[in-house]
Amino acid sequence: MPLRSALKSSLVKITLASILQVIALGADREASASAASPEEVRQAIAANNEGMVLVNNGEFKPAADKFETACKLEPERSLFHCNYGFALLKLGHFDGAIAQLEESVKLQPDFSRAWINLAVAFESKGDTARAIPALKRVVEIGPPSPEIDRIKAHIELLSKENEIGNLDKSETDYVESIKARNKFRWAKSRMPIKVFMKSGEGVENFKPEYETFLKDAFDQWVAASNGQLSVEFVKKAKDADITTEWTTDTTGVLNLSELGDTRYKCDGQGMASAMIRMLLVDPKPAKLTPVMVQWGALHEVGHAFGLLGHSRNPGDVMFSVYPANAENPKLTARDVATIQKFYAEDLGDTWLSLNEAGNIAAKNGDYALAITQYEKSVALKPESNVPTQNLIRANYNQALYLLQKGDTKSPDQYFRRALELEKDRHDENYPVIIKSYSQYLKMVGRTKEAAEIEKLK
Ligand SMILES: [Zn+2]
Repeated sequence: MPLRSALKSSLVKITLASILQVIALGADREASASAASPEEVRQAIAANNEGMVLVNNGEFKPAADKFETACKLEPERSLFHCNYGFALLKLGHFDGAIAQLEESVKLQPDFSRAWINLAVAFESKGDTARAIPALKRVVEIGPPSPEIDRIKAHIELLSKENEIGNLDKSETDYVESIKARNKFRWAKSRMPIKVFMKSGEGVENFKPEYETFLKDAFDQWVAASNGQLSVEFVKKAKDADITTEWTTDTTGVLNLSELGDTRYKCDGQGMASAMIRMLLVDPKPAKLTPVMVQWGALHEVGHAFGLLGHSRNPGDVMFSVYPANAENPKLTARDVATIQKFYAEDLGDTWLSLNEAGNIAAKNGDYALAITQYEKSVALKPESNVPTQNLIRANYNQALYLLQKGDTKSPDQYFRRALELEKDRHDENYPVIIKSYSQYLKMVGRTKEAAEIEKLK
């Protein structure tokens, strides 16, 4: 009975760019408890609905003015503040947007759409710490729906970002938060990296210009790397280190609001291969636009080049979320400085990178190597639950693996180590380890010791 493995697929899944979409809503005459006169209410609704028409035409500046008028005429209506905040958000006026959206949820605490827009405004500023509670509020309000499921997945992504992103304190780059997540780079001996771009022809929603975006994304990163990265585009998938494809197939995609999905494999030399899947599905409720594809291409290629973490700064291409006001996506000075530093620096180990190295070894079934990596990780960060739990599982799985191979001697030490680590924890794995260990001891004729172990329950 193997413990539930921490990792399943043979490729490492990383967190991806995703979108929470902001929308504006129309108004009607109901649901107002305001002190405004009937005439003011009528004018406010008219202004709001004119604003809506402008929003639908992508004219956010005049739309913002209309919504502002509606707010002035009837300040107690939550919806107008929500729409005004939305328009300001689209214009990149994040602080103004936050003020309006906070007013909106104050007036109507169960207004999900305003909470979502507020979360997006916080995220757009890079303030994930405040975006998370706003999204949790949306989940509380409910009701359960596919969108709520997407929001839950997004909360998880943000929480992870938040933890790692705290390391991103430098003004000039975000290499620290990248290094905390992973230290796998493309080795010099692998240059030029061979890239195969599978044609998107025939794939739903594909446009020929998208191919140019992807090629341009590779070119931008190569230029930014200052000679440390080079690529060669090849004609056959079998010759490639990095492959790219266009798809509408979201199987295996955790978060349906993602723009792309990059998976990678590593070996002793670092990055060994990467697979970029560009998703051509509407990140609902938004429609996929060419600018999103362009931004997504830059972002995913950054991942494929080894930047497996994210920036905390919303302007950067490697920010975790598609920016609500993106126009002409290109690498920022921080993106450029980060790729240069990442490839130039001597990278020491961190508990996260060792844990990640352990995960990769475990996935490949090399539990002995996984144990070595996890042990080092635990030594650096004994207070963290993650590497310890992984270390327990790796020891236990190694014991079972050796037993399956007919080795009756070596499993003992691995069971022991698992049990030793589990002793102070007493989580759900504890009885499982005790049971297996005692079964093993009985099997090898050590019945007295088996009885001792069973007493530990
Ligand atoms: Zn990403």
